[in-house]
Amino acid sequence: MSVIESVRPLHGKLTAIRRDIHAHPELAFEEHRTAELVARHLEALGIETHRGIGGTGVVGVVRGGRSLRAIGLRADMDALPITERNSFAHRSTVQGCMHACGHDGHTTMLLGAAEALVARKDFDGTVYLIFQPAEEGEGGAPAMIADGLFDRFPMEAVFGMHNWPGMEAGSFAIHSGPVMASADRFDIRFTGVGAHAAMPHLGVDPVVAGAAFVQAAQTLVSRTLDPIDAGVVSVTQFHAGEAYNVIPDRAELCGTVRTFAAEVRDRLERGLRQVAEGIAASHGVQLAFEYRRGYPPTINTADEAALCAEAARAVAGPERVFTDRRPSMGAEDFAYFLQEKPGAYVWIGNGPGEGGCTLHNPHYDFNDEVLPTGVAYWCQLARTLLSAAR
Ligand SMILES: [Zn+2]
Ligand SMILES: [Zn+2]
Repeated sequence: MSVIESVRPLHGKLTAIRRDIHAHPELAFEEHRTAELVARHLEALGIETHRGIGGTGVVGVVRGGRSLRAIGLRADMDALPITERNSFAHRSTVQGCMHACGHDGHTTMLLGAAEALVARKDFDGTVYLIFQPAEEGEGGAPAMIADGLFDRFPMEAVFGMHNWPGMEAGSFAIHSGPVMASADRFDIRFTGVGAHAAMPHLGVDPVVAGAAFVQAAQTLVSRTLDPIDAGVVSVTQFHAGEAYNVIPDRAELCGTVRTFAAEVRDRLERGLRQVAEGIAASHGVQLAFEYRRGYPPTINTADEAALCAEAARAVAGPERVFTDRRPSMGAEDFAYFLQEKPGAYVWIGNGPGEGGCTLHNPHYDFNDEVLPTGVAYWCQLARTLLSAAR
């Protein structure tokens, strides 16, 4: 019997679990109900279960055979501060909180894998099931690492999976190398001298300095990066002034920087500071500059990505596994796991095809039809990785 046929009987039960989690979303590091649901489910399967890792994180330990080899499979559990606009029965029961990124589905697929792995035991080694908190901007992955995840549960590689709307349901996209970008933030304040708008020579105008900065910052990508390298500099806020006839004394600008490579990231951070300093000097305004690094880029290792593709082909068929999709400039804290271990983070299509509801949209919902495929992929991946001697 194929892996997917063997997990199909779980579909009804998993759909009920997924909808229950969807109806009870919890924000980053507040996933107490979800973590308890996960831990109880694992314990009911007889799986060794560890709670409270990196806050609300949970790890389950599934052993098969006698090999000392081990891998980690990871799901995220948190929801977003969005008010759901769906009207179906399993819509969010919490005002201002919603599973709009499908982490309810990710958690459920890993719970399904737990059950199937215990039943199948067709791998030789240990599978650590990692249920992490706070993927959405708050850094649950580094919190688990800081709490000793990889020391307490030594593993040779770690794997993640995210649903991807706009890709056919149950198809896979697997990237060798970069899959998601880094996400940094900057805050800039130009302070000049306020004046009557009719007498600009009596003041120092920070608005003109700010406008010059917005223009000049765009030359960083176009003129200082290798054209083959990807980078985004977006100024997303520009606040200054409140009257028609007053030159304000300050202008505040904020934005985000996205890249796939450490050198590009360093260059853009350095370049933004240089541009801001140059603009400040040439316009005679004072500068306050702050650059904060967020999630690093998510970079899949080539060997592990190839093994993921092999497992996905066995589950979904070669015609539904894509290795030529462009990466996304979105960000993902699975990146921190991949800074520590080899591994790969793959996309599973959430349907329909082109168009449809995107992630983080108040009408989004995880597609329950995908559940058996995701579970089968995790099982097949464990078998692929923990069978052949590597
Ligand atoms: Zn998200
Ligand atoms: Zn997400």
